[in-house]
Amino acid sequence: MEQFADDTKLEIGAPCAEIIMQGNLQGDKLFPDRTEFHCDNSNFKGCSENLEKIVNDAKHLSGDPALIRLGRGMHVIQDFYSHSNWAEMVAPLPVLAPVEDFKDVSYIKNLQSGMYPYSHESIDDQLDCFTAPESDWKTGLVGATHACMHKDGNNSIRGGTEVPGIGRTYHEFAGELAIAHTKKYLMSWYKSGHPGFLSCLVVKVGGGGCNHNIIRKMK
Ligand SMILES: [Zn+2]
Repeated sequence: MEQFADDTKLEIGAPCAEIIMQGNLQGDKLFPDRTEFHCDNSNFKGCSENLEKIVNDAKHLSGDPALIRLGRGMHVIQDFYSHSNWAEMVAPLPVLAPVEDFKDVSYIKNLQSGMYPYSHESIDDQLDCFTAPESDWKTGLVGATHACMHKDGNNSIRGGTEVPGIGRTYHEFAGELAIAHTKKYLMSWYKSGHPGFLSCLVVKVGGGGCNHNIIRKMK
């Protein structure tokens, strides 16, 4: 959201930002096993269709329900970078994925995300993912689970491994891609002229501290 503010000189008011964050968190709370909310099980087509549906639903909504949808869509985009091997495929180049367009393609070579909540029947295949050399991470691995692949933090195998040559971990690199894509996503809401989103925007004053102080006082 801060990168969006840097570009537009407008920031999302604290009360709206809070609702958007709630919508984002709802992805895990309300739909933990729905792969299309987290881009798990290599369900990239479903993920992309879900994102489109969420955004289309929001077009007919206003107020909090629209902002909740905005947050849910954000969750889909951010989980894609954390759960798939896109970051491993493009590193060290910060190339964004066509998440919005995966709905139109049935197969993307080597792109994979881990199985969740299901897992592969062969335990050996599952373990192979954990011991696979980094050079194999760019390819699809049979039996890869969510636990093996995710980069939600620096404390997972992939998340904590440093991307060769850039001095940052895969978790941090994937996070940068997710932030850049989130900014693109917010810009699309801005350009769409959604009244509920536009009414959230306030002129940016300084470094965001004011806005953050407001939200602290609300709690
Ligand atoms: Zn999730």
